[in-house]
Amino acid sequence: MKRRNFLKSASIAALTAAGTAKANASAHAGRPRYEKIKITNVKVVMTSPERVRLVVVKIETSDPGLYGWGCATFNQRALVVKTAVEEYLKPFLIGKNPDDITDLWQAMYTSSYWRNGPVLNNAISGVEMALWDIKGKRANMPVYQLLGGKARFAADLYAHAGGSTFKEVEDSVRSWMEKGYRNVRAQFNARKGGTYGSGNFDPKKHPNLPPETSLFEPQVYVRTIPKLFDHLRDKLGFEVNLLHDTHERISNSQALYLGKALEPHELFFWEDPLPPEGVNFFETLRQHTTVPIAMGELFNNPNEWMEIVKEQYIDYIRVHISQIGGLLPAHRLSNFCEPFGVRTAWHGPGDNSPIGHAAGIALDLVCQNFGVQEQHIFNQPAQDIFQGCLKIENGYCYANEAPGWGIEVDEELAKKFPWRGDTSFDYFWGQTRKPDGSIIKP
Ligand SMILES: [Mg+2]
Repeated sequence: MKRRNFLKSASIAALTAAGTAKANASAHAGRPRYEKIKITNVKVVMTSPERVRLVVVKIETSDPGLYGWGCATFNQRALVVKTAVEEYLKPFLIGKNPDDITDLWQAMYTSSYWRNGPVLNNAISGVEMALWDIKGKRANMPVYQLLGGKARFAADLYAHAGGSTFKEVEDSVRSWMEKGYRNVRAQFNARKGGTYGSGNFDPKKHPNLPPETSLFEPQVYVRTIPKLFDHLRDKLGFEVNLLHDTHERISNSQALYLGKALEPHELFFWEDPLPPEGVNFFETLRQHTTVPIAMGELFNNPNEWMEIVKEQYIDYIRVHISQIGGLLPAHRLSNFCEPFGVRTAWHGPGDNSPIGHAAGIALDLVCQNFGVQEQHIFNQPAQDIFQGCLKIENGYCYANEAPGWGIEVDEELAKKFPWRGDTSFDYFWGQTRKPDGSIIKP
């Protein structure tokens, strides 16, 4: 383009831009950008399209048609969370300004005096995420934009592979690789259908154990898992990132053994080797293995993670976002971890609603120290209830670009998937036992 023509088009462009800005300014003239509104109602919606008990909170406002959704799912004690929201938080929230997320969070958190428990943290999270949804809708932006915008185009996911023979696990990993996934968590259970542990439970051989027992033999487990990864690396090579979850079920010395034995397999990370009560052992564990360690699925209290993060005893923090109180606490945790080289891998199971997953993905997109994201693919009824579930392609999860979380809950359809009356499901975690009958803590 000749210089004279360039100047002419540049000046036309400048005039057009100025005209557009002027038109926008006049459209906003004479009225506040955000009118002050109030919270008018808080309700809990419970639904179970995938067996687990999803708990989501809806906050309605004085602006007609403006409301928000948040995740408060604590599958094992869902009714207690519902009571906490409806009987304690709702009366406090009615009439408050939903824009004041930070103040409302601090007031809810502090008002119980005793704090940092899973029930109240989930209740607060349900409210807090709903407030972010409202704020996003008021700003006409997805929530990740309110946190500073994208640091990456999508979140790299890890998928779950499992089987009751090494060949089955290999085939399962391979099926994810063929779908384009770069990261796969591999679990083995000699018992058909299981994904954790190593026991092949025959009730006749253990007549003293309750029949609902999930038998776990820690020593057999730590001996078996390195052989599983020998097989997987032999058959699949080293290109795929392999992960493994111990689910907190072994002793300190068994963790040392397994940490050393898994070094040659170059895992992407080794998840939850010890229970939260065992955080004091991470200093020793760190000194004995080069395997990257991921920890924190069961954490509720900042005191559980502060030491192991600042001392750099772990490589990945993987808390369950609603269990620590919602988006703001998780964002603060991520920022705390960044200078210590600890990356995020938020817990992403099925007992986390699509709203909870959307909050995790928002953080994955904006946090510089994102590591990897656990995947859960919701079944069709769940996707029909939660319209706007995030898109997954080639092992990447993409944000929903609609304002707020971009997810609308079909409340009428949700009622068609009520909770099952199966209380024994609540006690699943308390039925994993050693052969001598003692319970193993996850
Ligand atoms: Mg886990």
